[in-house]
Amino acid sequence: MTDDVAANLATLKNKISKICHAAGQNPQGVTLVAVSKQQPVERVRAALDAGHRLFGENRVQEAQARWEPLRALYPDVRLHLIGPLQTNKARDAVALFDVIETVDRPALVDALGKEMKKQNRFPPVLIEVNTGGETQKAGVGIEGVADLLSYAQVAGLNVRGFMAIPPMGEPPAPHFALLSKLAVRHGLQELSMGMSADFEKAIPLGATHIRLGTAVFGQRP
Ligand SMILES: *Cc1c(COP(=O)(O)O)cnc(C)c1O
Repeated sequence: MTDDVAANLATLKNKISKICHAAGQNPQGVTLVAVSKQQPVERVRAALDAGHRLFGENRVQEAQARWEPLRALYPDVRLHLIGPLQTNKARDAVALFDVIETVDRPALVDALGKEMKKQNRFPPVLIEVNTGGETQKAGVGIEGVADLLSYAQVAGLNVRGFMAIPPMGEPPAPHFALLSKLAVRHGLQELSMGMSADFEKAIPLGATHIRLGTAVFGQRP
């Protein structure tokens, strides 16, 4: 992929369509979240010029600095938080993001629930699952998913589904399949899985949201 963002987006949409057709799925069921973290603003503007409006960021402060001014120009921009969230940033996250994909512990549920009520703003959330059971990684372990889900629902969070990042250096497909199974088991619709290197595998396994950074914008500087 190059840094010709408009061309990359067109190529990717084509590819997503083909994968969906081959898998007997509706391409409209797969949403491309363009991960703009650390990307030069010219590339982000190129995506906006190409008509793209849905972006992912992994840090609250970086996202605020970038998107507060851009959103004044493009009010229909939608933002997903895809990075770990500290409870002391819950207020800013609730104010800025349209979906929070990284809910992974009760303390964060508490902080988000409180802020959502205070701001009367209820962005949907996903529960991040640590499918590989990696100790250093964010996300709730498989064994904790059911409890955290009901905890979040009781707290009034609008939980739409699950998000995962498979362990580096492992085939991702079993992790995608596992996340899919969890969604079915819990009756949830949305699955954020698949990045630039592995979205082609995630789509046939049920991804509804793919998070693409380098495939859209080129390498992060
Ligand atoms: C950075 C990031 C991505 C995008 O990664 P690429 O390999 O550039 O597509 C997706 N998801 C998360 C959680 C990320 O932090």
